[in-house]
Amino acid sequence: MNRFLSCLVAVSVITTVDASNQMSTPTVTVIYCGALLDVPGQPARGVSTITIENDWVVSVQTGRVEREHDSGSVVVYDFGDATILPGLIDCHTHLTHEMKPGSRLARMVEEDAESAIRAVAYARRTIEAGFTTVRNVGSGGHAIFALRDGINRGEIVGPRIVAAGHAITPTGGHGDGTHGFAEDIFEIPGSYQGVADGVDECRKAVRAQVKRGADCIKLTATGGVLSMTNAGTNQQFFDDELEAIVETAHALGRNVAAHAHGTDGINAALRAGVDSIEHGSFLDDESISLFKRTGAFLVPTVLAGVTVSEIASGEDNYFTPEVTAKALAVGPVMQANLGRAHREGVRIAFGTDSGVSRHGDNTREFELMVDAGMTPAETIFAATVNAAELCGLSDEIGTLEPGKYADFVVYFENPLEDIGAIRRPHMVFKGGEVIGD
Ligand SMILES: [Zn+2]
Repeated sequence: MNRFLSCLVAVSVITTVDASNQMSTPTVTVIYCGALLDVPGQPARGVSTITIENDWVVSVQTGRVEREHDSGSVVVYDFGDATILPGLIDCHTHLTHEMKPGSRLARMVEEDAESAIRAVAYARRTIEAGFTTVRNVGSGGHAIFALRDGINRGEIVGPRIVAAGHAITPTGGHGDGTHGFAEDIFEIPGSYQGVADGVDECRKAVRAQVKRGADCIKLTATGGVLSMTNAGTNQQFFDDELEAIVETAHALGRNVAAHAHGTDGINAALRAGVDSIEHGSFLDDESISLFKRTGAFLVPTVLAGVTVSEIASGEDNYFTPEVTAKALAVGPVMQANLGRAHREGVRIAFGTDSGVSRHGDNTREFELMVDAGMTPAETIFAATVNAAELCGLSDEIGTLEPGKYADFVVYFENPLEDIGAIRRPHMVFKGGEVIGD
């Protein structure tokens, strides 16, 4: 990623270290760029200066502001005409997994440790694509928590992770990972694996995920495309179960993401008070008024719909007949319904379902959102300000303002003018540090 650094970017380190004061002196980084979208939703600035101390933005100034160098070490990056956006946020990933032919049987032989090692590579690809934070909504085992904590300790490179643990699902529901296998292969799953029926078990399953380390809760309100069942994509939890999950999660300070394709499940989940609907494929007029009344976000994951449609209609389709039927029914409608929801004023938060698609290809979603009728600026707003709110991290990320993490991405072409440019980040910073060095 930094191959062209030496010819296109001037970097200088000005060191005037005062040895007696070294311990308390912050690391200062000064960034110059030609265009800056520091607060998506507002107009971009032209030439700008960002000053960072340690992990944090301390000032954002219009124009090129030369710094009076005092004691300490100052690193200056001069990016010339380049454009800077806040670090991107993907509200729907599955970092411990990537779908491919044979994925179904891999579950029988793959240990949690192997998922964890693969996830290290997927996390790196994700941040190199410009995503400095993800919300991981559903992963088995403990790998996702180990990955999150290892990244937070600085041991491995990856995005900040808001992790859900196992999705909460009814027996045989979309998140029941024992679907389609011989009954004696897996233990009957319970609350620790997210499988719950009835109000009491639903409360217990939420508590169990929080105990395991969950930052947010994912539930499967309806059937899903990729589960090995012909039970369709309609509502699978009863209303009282949905309410029990939402109430317990909120009491424990966790937001709730609801996987939902069918209209009945979307509307039941919204009535129960979920914070986001994932996919939202068959939303209707009632859904739109419920979204607007509750303030819930739609996380559209159009890329997942496109990916499963391409596989199901391709020559090398490796889905089972049940999955093929669902993929062909659901995939094509997701983009049109995003366009409709957006036109009607539903709040959109960016999410890709990466893991269904290849990790690191997350930026493809932006072009699909523009094709659905959003402007480039609106898609970037969805992937920064709105996504930060949905992650519960608006005080720390989503914009480049004093007091927030210095998470940002540098582009030589301006994604606000051509959204395709967002696929080509030049350099990614997380917490003031360059990724890839
Ligand atoms: Zn998903």
